[in-house]
Amino acid sequence: MFQSINPATGAKGERFAELDDVGIERALATAETAWRDWRVSPLDRRTALLDALADRFDANKRELAEIATREMGKTLKSAIAEVEKCVAGFRHFAENGPSFLEEETVPVPKGSATGRWLPIGPVLAIMPWNFPYWQVVRFMAPAIMAGNVGLLKHASITQGVAAAIEDMARQAGAPEGVFQNLAIRSDKVAGVIADDRVAAVTLTGSEGAGSKVAEAAGKALKKVVLELGGSDPFIVMPSADIEEAAKQAVTARVQNTGQSCICGKRMIVHADIHDAFMEKFAAGMKAVKAGDPMDEATDMGPLSSFDQRDTVLDQVDRAKQAGATLLFGAEKVGEAGAFLSAGILTDVPRDSDIAREELFGPVAMVFKVSDIDEAITLANDIPYGLGSSVWTTDDGERERFERDIAAGMTAVNQMLASAPQAPFGGVKKSGHGRELGPWGMHEFMNLKTVLAA
Ligand code: NDP
Repeated sequence: MFQSINPATGAKGERFAELDDVGIERALATAETAWRDWRVSPLDRRTALLDALADRFDANKRELAEIATREMGKTLKSAIAEVEKCVAGFRHFAENGPSFLEEETVPVPKGSATGRWLPIGPVLAIMPWNFPYWQVVRFMAPAIMAGNVGLLKHASITQGVAAAIEDMARQAGAPEGVFQNLAIRSDKVAGVIADDRVAAVTLTGSEGAGSKVAEAAGKALKKVVLELGGSDPFIVMPSADIEEAAKQAVTARVQNTGQSCICGKRMIVHADIHDAFMEKFAAGMKAVKAGDPMDEATDMGPLSSFDQRDTVLDQVDRAKQAGATLLFGAEKVGEAGAFLSAGILTDVPRDSDIAREELFGPVAMVFKVSDIDEAITLANDIPYGLGSSVWTTDDGERERFERDIAAGMTAVNQMLASAPQAPFGGVKKSGHGRELGPWGMHEFMNLKTVLAA
């Protein structure tokens, strides 16, 4: 059984049965049967299902949000915003999906070649707990539109969310097998990937999980998209609006209690404005109050689990041992839940392990640099390359950041956020492939070339 634990209280919640081997076999057979019909379904049937899913998510917004808050501790208001983003995601693919599937014809020496977008089959999605609805929907909506069918292996701690998504699909009238929740543990994943009925796999999560899943997919010669961790730079140059940069740096670092793959984690600040930025940034971080995530007034909930809090505390300890200074914060809050106060680390040695790790909690590392070259060198001096946020009004600097930061995404004068319309993904150990927009949909499609005289 999977046991839900409320990280705000430590109380045990619902239990969910794990699928046994017979159940897994049944789900795979159902997926294959469903795909035979869904792959040739008319496009208006697919868009109608996406619209119905958007309607169901919208109508059940609060109930869905509460499940996420209870299971992984995000504030209820942010969970509601996440469900609203899912509604927008479903609508985006309903409205634009048909145009993403349009054929393109090019001349070839003996006539013409047409590229036709065809579905590839059942896709396994392994998803994390941090945005437990959005991460799933950004895979699910394009999969449904493409004519694929989905199998979800959700994080062990968010099985209530997984069951709720499957229920929404049922309520929206999805044919049996078009979207299924596979309530399995990670030790069953390699077997599912190896199964001939599964066409491809996508994973959002840690580097370790990504490497294991890529290994299994490689062995079976299957397409894999990986959206892994990051330690995004948030770079502030002298020409920037310091007040706004500091404000958004706080939001970037503490949103979702610091547990977002694309939140600014390393603040890289030019020496000329370092002290001015720090004054505002530190005041903003100190003002963040961790508390009951169900309370509308709460800024920040607990970490997603007690284990996750221990991981962050261990990272902060290792940073201090390596010579870093903990200015304030990163302390346990209250007695019962997995709460941690927002904090700032400075003087983190650039060659220490911690300077290159993903710190998945509300603790920022701040670095001082003397020019743009040093800022870019430091930004790139990590194994990851997911997102980045750069603050400057100088066009030359902006061009350098856009061109030279080794990341899949760069946000200019704003914190980075995903949007259904824009490609999302990373380079280096942040993974490969893209999600969202036509790019995300096409990752799991067969671009068939049809030659005609
Ligand atoms: P994981 O990467 O372990 O979990 C993400 C998903 O992968 C879950 O569904 C998990 O299942 C599954 N998984 C884990 N190991 C394997 C495996 N060997 N084979 C197949 N599937 C697997 O994240 P954690 O929850 O353990 O968090 C650890 C760290 O990962 C965080 O501190 C953070 O640094 C990073 N992380 C990054 C995320 C991002 O958005 N980039 C999201 C989540 C975590 P199960 O839950 O059953 O183990």
